[in-house]
Amino acid sequence: MFLIALLLLSTAIGWVVYRLNDHPSLAPYERYLLSAGELPASGDGVSVTFLGVSTVLISDGRTALLTDGFFTRPSLARVALGRIEPDREVIARALDLAGIDALEAIFVVHSHYDHAMDAPEVARRTGALLVGSESTANVGRGWGLEDDRIRVAESGRPMPFGDFTVTLIRSRHFPHGRAMGEIAEPLVPPARAMAYREGGSWSIHVEHRLGSLLIHSSAGWIPGALEGYRADVVMLGIGLLGSRDEAYRRDYFREVVETVGARWVIPIHYDDFTRPLDVPLLPLPAFFDDFGASMRFLVERTEASPGLELVMLPVGEPVVMFEARAGVGSAPARVSNLDRL
Ligand SMILES: [Zn+2]
Repeated sequence: MFLIALLLLSTAIGWVVYRLNDHPSLAPYERYLLSAGELPASGDGVSVTFLGVSTVLISDGRTALLTDGFFTRPSLARVALGRIEPDREVIARALDLAGIDALEAIFVVHSHYDHAMDAPEVARRTGALLVGSESTANVGRGWGLEDDRIRVAESGRPMPFGDFTVTLIRSRHFPHGRAMGEIAEPLVPPARAMAYREGGSWSIHVEHRLGSLLIHSSAGWIPGALEGYRADVVMLGIGLLGSRDEAYRRDYFREVVETVGARWVIPIHYDDFTRPLDVPLLPLPAFFDDFGASMRFLVERTEASPGLELVMLPVGEPVVMFEARAGVGSAPARVSNLDRL
């Protein structure tokens, strides 16, 4: 009896370990990948750099903004069993590689550790203002960030930063129910991953005279919340979206991508964030998500929608997203290799 139980247990563990290491491939989507490019010499452009999960650098050459700033990416064992904290060395190296020195502001989409944990350290190093929920403010306070470097956002209230106007809009987290609620007091790491409670989710709208961008990290929504907003480009969080049915995906796509009239949709938050950023990004393992189902859905929806394209971003390299063109105004700019789509 005992031997049978042991055999069953080891089979179950083996199955879990196998599924945790079973990462889908990104290869089938390479044709959607934009190539890196620098801003035009005139300086009249906006570039976007994808840095994993929903960490995104946006710059027009004068003002640089960041979402989340999550670089530590602790291992699954540490997240599941131990305490986690920002890794100063990893953060410094990532900022260096991404060419980030000074930032105007960091906007945190919600306070789960894979978004909020490193943000105060990034703010400290770059001089940025930390912007987010009251829970995110408590992550900042717990790291010792001064109060005048923290701003609690108000939903729908536009904030100017250089030539950008950024608006945080209340949204809803993907309904997995883990680590929900608020961080009510300054959170001092090391802490358990579950201590980083969600604290309310935002959809982040970034407007520039050359184009507009919506960063929507978690695959949930509040019906109608984005009505009245326009965005040329939506960076769409697809983490765990593959675990839901087609009807859910369709509602999500309508409420976010179609409502704002996007011309490009760019999947984000698909990567396994328990792996470091300096090895190739891989989608979440099959144990957690069905990445293929989400991507098939996006391919089908964009193929069926004239004027809407699916685009993937390289990791850690800037892509010119909006560019002034003589007589044409702003794009999304077509950087050279998109023309082969
Ligand atoms: Zn989350």
